[in-house]
Amino acid sequence: MAASGKVATFRLPVLPTIGEIIKLFKLKATKELSQNFLLDLRLTDKIVKTAGNLKDVYVCEVGPGPGGISRSILNSGVADLLLIEKDSRFIPGLQLLSEAAPGKVRIVNEDILTYTFNEAFPKHLSKNWEDDHPDIHIIGNLPFSVSTPLIIQWLENISNRDGPFSYGRIRMTLTFQKEVAERLTASTTSRQRSRLSIMSQYLCTVNKGFTIPGQAFVPKPEVDVTLVHFTPLVEPKIKQPFKLVEKVVQSIFQYRRKFCHHGARILFPEDDRLEKTKQLLMEADVDPTLYPTKLSLFQFKNLCNAYRKMCDEDPDLFAYNYREELKKKKEANFKWTDKDYFFSP
Ligand code: SAM
Repeated sequence: MAASGKVATFRLPVLPTIGEIIKLFKLKATKELSQNFLLDLRLTDKIVKTAGNLKDVYVCEVGPGPGGISRSILNSGVADLLLIEKDSRFIPGLQLLSEAAPGKVRIVNEDILTYTFNEAFPKHLSKNWEDDHPDIHIIGNLPFSVSTPLIIQWLENISNRDGPFSYGRIRMTLTFQKEVAERLTASTTSRQRSRLSIMSQYLCTVNKGFTIPGQAFVPKPEVDVTLVHFTPLVEPKIKQPFKLVEKVVQSIFQYRRKFCHHGARILFPEDDRLEKTKQLLMEADVDPTLYPTKLSLFQFKNLCNAYRKMCDEDPDLFAYNYREELKKKKEANFKWTDKDYFFSP
């Protein structure tokens, strides 16, 4: 306890501004890594507040860049900050930050898409899946090209309880292009309802945070950015393997502007396509004339369960791939016309 009676909290000492760090280390944003930086620390504080109370929490920040959000995380009293940055040009600036917060910052110069979380946090922080959340939080303002494949990868990890989620139901606060954030959080009444809505909401409680206008970034991207907060559910709303759910959801949304039976059809080989589609929709008790965007999570659960039953009865069914069949057909057609052209009299 400090003499004033207030609890002593960690504050970073005065450091060069983020703008000065960018100049000092000549950190010109590169297009290939879609780099757009936040220089306003009031805004980075607001982002970190959205993540909730981080006091004594182990935080992993993905793509810290020049370290604006990292500073706000450190000022929120975290126990430890793990920074994962792909671009080595940022490492000296992040080391400066690490020196200002002795013993609190770990820097990893790696690609988040291939980074394994095996040694990321002390093992004693692990919690059983059914228990409360572990004192670990993932935060990231990532490039759009990375955030969508990454969230799909992490959703699969949540389903398998591996990767970062081997520590338990870790919460995440991540940024997405505004339209993607709308899709992730869209309900059945929303026009934005999509594959991403189902895949994220069957595994997590997904909440939309505030939107950051493009002009808040340097350089300014073409689009606005929205924060999304994910909390993995104890019980997923669909209890089937991730790849099976992904296949059903992807197929149904393949024809998002047509009745759902159009998408359901491509789950089955041509020979008995109509019959099997009918069987699937009947068993799932789903009206074939509903649009994919109007299907509830409960209806997707029924579709996945019915499809699983059909796959168990026919072991070749899950491996069936409509696109491959289409490709083979096109190739066969092309070869035929090709030959026909060259050898016709
Ligand atoms: N967090 C900083 C901020 O808000 O100002 C930088 C945000 S910038 C949009 C994205 C950052 O992610 C960059 O620093 C970039 O180098 C980094 N990055 C891009 N792809 C990455 C990847 N695959 N793994 C780790 N970091 C990545």
